[in-house]
Parts: sequence; structure tokens; C-alpha cells
Amino acid sequence: MSDSRTTAASLADQLAAGEVTSVEVTQRHLDRIAEVDDRVHAFLHVDAEGALLQAAESDARRARGEARGPLDGVPIAVKDVLATRGLPTTCGSKILEGWVPPYDATVVERLRVAGLPILGKTNMDEFAMGSSTEHSAYGPTHNPWDLDRIPGGSGGGSAAAVASYEAPLAIGTDTGGSIRQPGAVTGTVGVKPTYGGVSRYGLVALANSLDQAGPVTRNVLDAAMLHDIIGGHDLRDSTSIKREWPSFTEAAREGAAGDLTGVKVGIVTEMSGDGWQPGVMNRFNESVELMVKAGAEVVEVSCPSFVHALAAYYLILPAEASSNLAKFDAMRFGLRVTPDGSPSAEDVMRASRDAGFGDEVKRRIILGTYALSSGYYDAYYGQAQKIRTLITRDFDAAFERVDVLVSPTAPTTAFKLGEKLDDPMAMYLNDLATIPANLSGVPGISIPNGLADEDSLPTGFQVLAPALADDRVYRVGAALEALHVQEWGGPLLDRATGLTEGN
Ligand code: GLN
Repeated sequence: MSDSRTTAASLADQLAAGEVTSVEVTQRHLDRIAEVDDRVHAFLHVDAEGALLQAAESDARRARGEARGPLDGVPIAVKDVLATRGLPTTCGSKILEGWVPPYDATVVERLRVAGLPILGKTNMDEFAMGSSTEHSAYGPTHNPWDLDRIPGGSGGGSAAAVASYEAPLAIGTDTGGSIRQPGAVTGTVGVKPTYGGVSRYGLVALANSLDQAGPVTRNVLDAAMLHDIIGGHDLRDSTSIKREWPSFTEAAREGAAGDLTGVKVGIVTEMSGDGWQPGVMNRFNESVELMVKAGAEVVEVSCPSFVHALAAYYLILPAEASSNLAKFDAMRFGLRVTPDGSPSAEDVMRASRDAGFGDEVKRRIILGTYALSSGYYDAYYGQAQKIRTLITRDFDAAFERVDVLVSPTAPTTAFKLGEKLDDPMAMYLNDLATIPANLSGVPGISIPNGLADEDSLPTGFQVLAPALADDRVYRVGAALEALHVQEWGGPLLDRATGLTEGN
């Protein structure tokens, strides 16, 4: 029997065995969306008709013995920052309201080729700026564990869709943590691949040198299977890496034996300590002990430049974002507001941007334009780039000593909606542990790490590996997941309470 709680890997088995059809599976998830999404608001757009049509095509292929891979027929949700042909793509912004792209992002194209029906587009902070999904122009997403709390961000919609069983799989994008941090606070798995490992073609850019799309799932194997589909070289992205990648599915299956003999694990000194929620640290330390029991060799590793990562990121990201967002000029696509009288082109641009962009987007455009202006460029953007180099050197030195680096994914569990909305600094601090990976391009995974003592909300465990060693994050992630199941019993998400009684 399967229900909307079945993992993608199990659905793949059931589809292969002819026990369910893709139409049934897809309908079941559409029913779940209809049942809970008025409370969760994970989706900005649901494409029931399109998804069922793709599901029927998948069933027909399978009947002919022509399934295109294990996940053919398993439905998926896609963050609204990826272009989808024929489906609205808003990036959570009013400025793109009503825009229907004439093309698919490479990631989306690969999902279609592999036969995954697309359920719809998920909510996000406007242009992926934020850590709570409260900066969406279409209203926040709610955390399925407690509907009064944030689901993380910017990809809170994808994480909440998977956590509330509205979708078995989702795609997110991670520029400074937007896959991993929502994973941590919703009890789901999120992977940021090596920069260049997944094509950015058709991903509406926030910061080109940091953005990377990746899997959002309920377990490590599902993430690996999805990564195998979306990853790999793409001629349409000049930063895409040309190489043969190993099978991540195989890495995850190997890891699931739970054996960490000989694996050298480094705990990053700078990614915990003062200001970290005690319950988050308790679960983290317990997981480290489990890894030791499973044969890992654990040492502490200092990466001194990481303390400057946040500052460097909040110069580099706004600098890139301010130039990326200049294309929203009301001339080519998106919102156009025409002021009364005989407005000039500049008047139209000004009025359209004023109405179309939210406060956080405006804040970053101003910051980025300032950091890039002549006279300040060297002092801000140039310095930030130097810090970026130092961070990469810290990673290089650390990975000389250890195979993987670990930390809690986020300093706290999900905070209350509204709590940090008027305090950008407090919001930015959520990404302390996730940002260094983006600045350096290394891969990382966040896996569910049990509930914090104080509030019984999910915490996350982050595993980082050297660039190109994405298979390692799956191997170690799957091992820790297996150790958790042995130690803590069944899947964490079964204990999510937000959608049950009273809510
Ligand atoms: N929260 C970070 C920010 O606001 C990360 C965003 C992201 O990864 N897209 O920039």
C-alpha cells in the first residue's frame, strides 16, 4: 500500500512492480494539496491538469515497457524561480506576476525527459532573498510542524510541500542556504550540489556565482536519485562542469549500511557556540557520538575566515543581484506601471519597480549598487572577494585533514512568523553555517537531526565535502540517517504535528 507519505524510492519500486499507477500517485498528491495547502501555502501555482496528463503519459510508457528511469511517474514540485514552459514563473515577486516563460530551465527539461509529472510551482522569498519565505509577495508559507512558524527560506515552499506530504520530491535553489536551512527547520533533506554540478540555465539568477539548484526530499536516497536526473554537464551554462559524475544513488545505497569506519569527520569550530540554541547543539553532539560509534574519526577543525563569510556574502550577493535585477525594467516582460501624464521611459521604470519590488529586494539593490559604485568598489566588493579566497583556502586546508566537515545546519529551530521580519540582520544570521559552502562552491547536505528539547521542533545536521565530492555527502548523509533510524526509530516527519488536531 502506498499513500502520499510514501518516499520517492518506494514509489519507484511500486510503479515498477505495477502496484500503483502514476495517475493514482499524482492524484493522491493533488488531493493532499487540496486538503492542506490553504493552511500551508507551499504552492503559488498548482497544475493539476498538466500533472495528470504527464502521469497518464508515464503510465502509457510503462505499459509499453519504455519507462525512462526509476522515477518515471513520480510527481515533483518546482521552486518558482525556475523557468517552466507554459507555467507561470513569478520568483515570488509582483514584478513577474503573470509571466509565462516560453522555455524550460535545463533542470525542468531533465525532469520532463525523466518522466516526472510537475505538480506545480512552490512559494519562495522574492527573488530568493530571505530565510523565512515571508518576503514572498504572495504571502508566507507555514511550517507544517507549527503553522505559526516559518518554514525557512528562501525555498520554504519546496520544503513545506515535501514535509506536509504534498509532494514526494521538490526542487530548490541554494545561494546562501535556501535548500539546506528550510530542510533543517522542516525536518526534510536538502542538498546543495557542487557549484557547476547542476545547470543554472533557466534559473532566474539571484547571484550567478553562488546559485545552485538541488533536491528537496524526505530521505537521502530520494535526494540522490533526483540529483542523478538533474545533474551533469549542460552546454547552455558556461559554468557547468564537464565531467563524468558517479552515481549518487549508488553512493546513498552504500552509505545506508551505516558504516563510517575510517571516515575522518571535522567539526567546524566557527559553526557553533554562543548564540546557538542548546537543543540544536544537543542533537548535533548526539549525532557526532553516533558517528564515532559507527567508526568515524572525529576532530575539531578551525576555519578562521568563516567568521567573515556573512559580511562578504552580503556584499557579493547584493552586488550581483543589483545587476541581475536591472533587467526588470518594465520594457521587456513583467509588470508595467504607467504614471499619469506623459511619463518618460525612466518614469515608467521607476513606477514599475516601486510597485513591483518588495522592501528586501529594494534594500539589496541599493546595497549592491552602492558597493559597486566607483570609489567604493575596492573597499567593499574587492575586499569581499578577498575574503572569499580566504574561505576557499580554509576549506582546502580543512579537507587536507578530513573527508567531510560537519555542523548544525541552522543556529535555531523555526522561529515564529513575523519575529524577525523587521530585523534584516537577525534574519541574515540564520545562514551563518550554510553561506561558506556557497562562497567556495563546495557541496553540502542537511539531514533531519531530531527535535530540539526546548520546543520539539526539527533540527538539521550539515555535511560538507570538497568540490566534486558530492557522492561523499550522500554516503555520509545516508549513513547518519541509517544510524538515526536505529537510534531514534521511524521517520522524523511522522511526528510533525502542525497539520493534525486543532490546526
Ligand atoms: N537567506 C539567504 C539570503 O537571504 C540565502 C538565500 C538563498 O540561498 N537563496 O540571501
